[in-house]
Amino acid sequence: MPPARPHPNPLPQGEGEGSPHPDTRLPMRLLDDIVAARPQIQEIRRDIHAHPELRFAEHRTSELVAARLAGWGIEVHRGLGGTGIVGIVRGRLQAPGGGARSIGLRADMDALPMQEINRFAHRSTHPGCMHACGHDGHTAMLLGAAQHLAEHRDFAGTVVLIFQPAEEGGAGARRMIEDGLFERFACDAVFAIHNWPGLAVGELGVASGPAMASTSDFEIRVDGRGAHAAMPHLGVDPVFVAVQIAQGLQGLVTRVKRPIDSAVLSVTMIHAGEATNVIPDTATLSGTVRTFDDGVTDLIESGLRRIAGSTAQAHQAAAAVRFERHYPPTVNHAREAEFAASVGDAVLGPGMVIRGIDPTMGAEDFAFMLQERPGAYLFLGNGSDTGAHRAAGHGAGPCTLHNASYDFNDDLIPIGASYWVALAGRYLAAPPD
Ligand SMILES: [Zn+2]
Ligand SMILES: [Zn+2]
Repeated sequence: MPPARPHPNPLPQGEGEGSPHPDTRLPMRLLDDIVAARPQIQEIRRDIHAHPELRFAEHRTSELVAARLAGWGIEVHRGLGGTGIVGIVRGRLQAPGGGARSIGLRADMDALPMQEINRFAHRSTHPGCMHACGHDGHTAMLLGAAQHLAEHRDFAGTVVLIFQPAEEGGAGARRMIEDGLFERFACDAVFAIHNWPGLAVGELGVASGPAMASTSDFEIRVDGRGAHAAMPHLGVDPVFVAVQIAQGLQGLVTRVKRPIDSAVLSVTMIHAGEATNVIPDTATLSGTVRTFDDGVTDLIESGLRRIAGSTAQAHQAAAAVRFERHYPPTVNHAREAEFAASVGDAVLGPGMVIRGIDPTMGAEDFAFMLQERPGAYLFLGNGSDTGAHRAAGHGAGPCTLHNASYDFNDDLIPIGASYWVALAGRYLAAPPD
């Protein structure tokens, strides 16, 4: 699922532990003290990797984050969305005109319920649980930025460090918002970074508008009337009806929504029957819908209900529909996206920012934050998806998100942390207008 447009000339990748840092070869403007602090932040990253925790159970990770922030003199607020943490760093400069601004920087902390097959020293010590999406690295990059910001405070305004739980299916972002995130801590804008395998280290992908899709699931239960398979006229065959519905649903994508609007509707399960000579009473169809626009989801949901109901009725069956919306689309705000891209130009060097990168049909609960505040969700290259950066002993599989062989690329720590500091400083000094 990496986005299209890989860089035509991939940058040299590190060879794993002990390799020279890429910033020695790239025209990046990284902060010296952040580069110097990399070994300590990398140690934290690998410690989190070795102790992954599932959604809303990020107790150890949350404690670790809170302790580090407090140790650097940062005001810490706990308990938002359960295990979520907010750190507040106030600048020591006066804003011109007195109107101090604020910016939210967000990292996610949770891991996935899957078994890691890497064998390197920092592999997961929790069976069936793994940091396979790099949230360990997102947390580490933001900690690296936090340390620098707290030491220097050479800005006017406030940086709100948001460490959220449960991005992977738990809507932890929404839980933090429900717990008053933006009422308690003013954020004029909010930004998030996800590492992205397949983009070169140092590349930043910035979409204007949709960056990730919405997700919805549906289940349609068709109630017919069972009968002997040799005497179908004595019953109502729910399998026959379910198949008609499955066919009809594809018409929503090809005939009902506008062709220029993206959507996927996949029927992924059809369950019915137990014997070859028995027509069952019921059949169920389930699947998923992805779009980049809630209006398109509305159209598909109403169409799905209509097709299921009327198709069943046409064949003297009945249909019960459950349509469940999970994450809305992650839609970047144009002004903030361009601002984030311009900071990328300055920090990462010429040609490293991919504006207008293709959105992906994956989903992300940062969408909820972008419904509350302007901002942008950014893709930072994790290097080749063959994973040359991984430590010796990695699983033989590709270094892609949600893969059992994945590992976050530690070369991103000084890059992401320096980028965060620059984004915050520039935003607070002169926000986009
Ligand atoms: Zn993920
Ligand atoms: Zn993720």
